[in-house]
Amino acid sequence: MSNPHVLAIAYPAQGHVLPLMELVLCLSKHGVKITFVNTESIHKRVINAFSVEDHVGVINFVSIPDGMEPWEDRSDLGRMTETMTQVMPGKLEELIEQKKGIDNDEITCIVADENMGWALEVAEKMGIKRAAFWPAAAATLGMLLRIQELIQSKILDSDGSILRSQTFTLSSTMPTMSTEIFTAFSGSNAGKIIFHSVLKNNNLLKLADRIICNTTSELEQGALSSFPEILPIGPLMASNRLGKSAGHLWPVDTTCITWLDQQPSCSVIYAAFGSFTLFDLNQLQELALGLKQTNRPFLWVVRPDMTNEKIKMYLEEFEARIQKRGRIVSWAPQDKVLSHPSVSCFLSHCGWNSTMEGVSNGVPFLCWPYFTDQFINQNYICDVWKVGLGLNKTESGMITREEISNKVEQLLSNKSFRERVLLFKEKATNSVQKGGCSYKNMSSFVKWISSGH
Ligand code: UDP
Repeated sequence: MSNPHVLAIAYPAQGHVLPLMELVLCLSKHGVKITFVNTESIHKRVINAFSVEDHVGVINFVSIPDGMEPWEDRSDLGRMTETMTQVMPGKLEELIEQKKGIDNDEITCIVADENMGWALEVAEKMGIKRAAFWPAAAATLGMLLRIQELIQSKILDSDGSILRSQTFTLSSTMPTMSTEIFTAFSGSNAGKIIFHSVLKNNNLLKLADRIICNTTSELEQGALSSFPEILPIGPLMASNRLGKSAGHLWPVDTTCITWLDQQPSCSVIYAAFGSFTLFDLNQLQELALGLKQTNRPFLWVVRPDMTNEKIKMYLEEFEARIQKRGRIVSWAPQDKVLSHPSVSCFLSHCGWNSTMEGVSNGVPFLCWPYFTDQFINQNYICDVWKVGLGLNKTESGMITREEISNKVEQLLSNKSFRERVLLFKEKATNSVQKGGCSYKNMSSFVKWISSGH
C-alpha cells in the first residue's frame, strides 16, 4: 500500500489558490504528501512572490500549460476557460502517468477546484478517488447547482442572460439573492462561455466522492442544511495552524505591520478589494478623499495592476498630503492585518475569503461589492449576520466621499456591529478546534484520503 499522495489542482485566480494552498498545508500536517498543480503563469507568480521566510518546502509545486500563449490576456476569462478545458486534461493525465509506479510518488487522490470539473473526469478515468473543493460560500455553490430552476422559471435565459431582474431565495434560511449576481456575465460572449462551463461543472461535480467547502456551519447553517452534500471544513486560515499563508500572486509588503503597531488600538480602517477589482480615476479619487475625510488612520491596498500613470501620480501626491495618517501598499499580509489590534473596520469588496477572514478576526465590515458572489456575501454580512453596513451608490454609480465617511462613523459608533462579529469570531474559531463541526469534517476527510489505496 502506498502512502496517501494528494494532487491538488487550483483554478488560476488568487481567491482560489490561497485557500486551496491552506487546505493542503493542513493535510500535509497529517502526513499526506502533496503535489500542487497550477497553470504555468500562476506557478511563476507564486514562486516569484515567495519570500525567504516561506516554509512551504513540504509541497511539490508543478505547473501545466493553460493553452494560452505567454503574452495573451488572461483577464479574458472566456478564452482562458476554453483553452484550459482543451489542453489541461491531457497534460494532467500525462503528469499522473509519469508518477505511476514510482515508489512513494503515485497519486492516490485528486482534490480539484470545483471550477476545474474536468480534473474530476480525469481522476475517474484513471481510477483515482477525488474530491471537489469549493472556495466560496456554500450558498453560492447551492445557487449554481439550482441554476436550471432559474432557467425554468424564466429568470435566466439558457445562455445565462438575465431575462427578469429580480431577487429570489433558495430557502427561507438562506440570504436573498439577486439576478445582479449574473450581470457581469450577462450578454457577453465570454459570459456565455463561462455560464456553459458552470453548467458543465455542475454535472461533473457528480463525479466527486466528496465536496468540501471553505465555510462553517455556524455561518451558513441554512445553506448547508439545504445542501447536505457540501461539507464545511473552514475557515481555512493560516492562523488556525499557527502558520503563515502561502500562494500569494504579488509579493507581500509586511512593513505595514510595523506601521500598524504604531497606531492606536481599534483605530485603523483597512481598505482592500481583492485581486480583481478595478477603479476608474474618479472613483479612486473619491475613495481617497473619503478615507481622508474620516480623520482616522487607514491602510489601503492598491494593487500594481490597478494603477496607470495618472493614478500613480495622484496617489503619490495624495500620500504626501496625508502624511503618516494613511499608508498605501500594493499587497498586504491580509490575514495578519485583520488580526492586528489596531484595525477597527474592513472596507471590503466582500470576496468570500475576505469575508471569512474579516469575520474570523472579529472585524466589522463596510461592503463595496463589485460582481457575482460578492453580492451574496454582502447580504450575509449586512442582513443575515448583521456585522456590517453596505455603501450606497449615486444614480451615476459613484460611491461618494461623504457616503464613505458617514458610513464609517455609523459603523464605528454603533457597538453592536463589533459585538456581533466577535460572537461569530468565537463560533468560527470553535468550529475548527477539537470537537467543532469543521474539525470533525476535516478529520474524516483526512481519514478518507488515507484509507484504501
Ligand atoms: N489578500 C491579501 N493581500 C491583499 C489583498 C488580498 O493577502 O492585499 C488575500 C485575501 O486575504 C484573500 C484573497 O487575497 O485571501 C482574496 O480573495 P477574495 O475571495 O477575498 O477576493 P477575490 O480576489 O477572489 O476577489
